[in-house]
Amino acid sequence: MTITYALIQMLEKVAEKTDRARIITKAEVFKLILNGKAVVGCEYRKAGAVHKEFGPVIFASGGFGADFGSDSLLAQYRPDLLHLPTTNGEHCTGDAIKMGEAIGATTTDLEWVQVHPTGLVKPDDPDAKVKFLAAEALRGVGGLVLDANGKRFANELGRRDYVTGEMWKSKPPFRLCLNKAAADEIIWHAKHYTGRGVMKFYESGAALAKDMGVPLQTLVDTHQAHYDAAKKTEKDPDGGKWPAYPSGKSWDEASGKTGSGKKFYHNVIDGSKVATEPFYVAIITPVIHYCMGGLECTVLGECITKAGVIPGLYVAGEAAGGIHGNNRLGGNSLLDCVVFGRVSGKAAVKYTFGAGDKFRLCPSPLELKELVK
Ligand SMILES: Cc1cc2nc3c(=O)[nH]c(=O)nc-3n(C[C@H](O)[C@H](O)[C@H](O)COP(=O)(O)OP(=O)(O)OC[C@H]3O[C@@H](n4cnc5c(N)ncnc54)[C@H](O)[C@@H]3O)c2cc1C
Repeated sequence: MTITYALIQMLEKVAEKTDRARIITKAEVFKLILNGKAVVGCEYRKAGAVHKEFGPVIFASGGFGADFGSDSLLAQYRPDLLHLPTTNGEHCTGDAIKMGEAIGATTTDLEWVQVHPTGLVKPDDPDAKVKFLAAEALRGVGGLVLDANGKRFANELGRRDYVTGEMWKSKPPFRLCLNKAAADEIIWHAKHYTGRGVMKFYESGAALAKDMGVPLQTLVDTHQAHYDAAKKTEKDPDGGKWPAYPSGKSWDEASGKTGSGKKFYHNVIDGSKVATEPFYVAIITPVIHYCMGGLECTVLGECITKAGVIPGLYVAGEAAGGIHGNNRLGGNSLLDCVVFGRVSGKAAVKYTFGAGDKFRLCPSPLELKELVK
């Protein structure tokens, strides 16, 4: 069972079987309620009516990667990205940031919006604003990223911001190409994406070259150069004339020229195999993916103003800023959600009931066991 599902399931059980939690769905929080400088609740809309709820508030409303209006956070902080598609759901409009700012909460790093290199383009709906995301693993198993001319231009295993940066300098459309061995290693994904029309299976490299409108020989040369670099790396891992990522030297000219040469190779084929090799291929595009910026907070998840902590207001997850520097690494958001969800939850309970363990912060493990029976 996935961690987040297990956590939600437990919350549902607690709500079902005790009076310690209540879950209100299909509700939109739009305003904080203040008592002096302290947050004592929030107002929300549900089914056309406005309701109030009292107690400390923990914002967990996500980022603003789908906030595209003319007065949106993206328009304010990253107008250069407004034309891009997004992987984010339409709820990602930065509501926490807006409500926080309305009462003087400070924000941080709002200009740091992560653009992921592998948004999947659906050929029959290329302009769709919301895109599927190609899992990082597709590059990990050996997927090569090619430009419109069938050439590699970056280290496929580089960081998201690096690969995206190299895409801006190169000629679209870009393709993520998995040869048979690479696709076999991740066949569930390949078939899933193919079924959804965002990936295409080609019987052979010859068919792929024809569809791309490039000479087959170009794909042969691209693969041969990649293969040669892999073999040289096998023989002499510390050699090569190009600077490598994360460190050392690389034999790979295509990525080496970018200053971030490839050092790790997986499921590599030589040029002679390309003509008859089956490929799974997706057209990919840079896509807005994650907001590193958000509400500034303390290590307890407390929101702050310039004057200090705002009593009763907390933030966790993507709505919080400053956790990931200027480039979040893959997998770390859910970790952040679990850590700061827990930290801010505990802090909010302590704030409500008092410090010194006077009140137990949450059900004990034994109680939890009883609840899930
Ligand atoms: C396609 C995709 C793949 C990803 N893959 C990974 C991955 O593999 N690993 C990883 O670590 N991270 C991944 N991420 C990032 C990660 O999923 C998000 O950063 C994370 O889910 C953010 O969690 P959150 O709880 O802060 O916000 P969200 O998950 O965005 O949830 C916010 C919730 O708040 C609700 N909400 C918003 N505004 C209001 C309002 N005004 N009133 C009431 N409710 C509101 C929304 O409806 C939503 O339910 C991925 C993101 C995407 C888009």
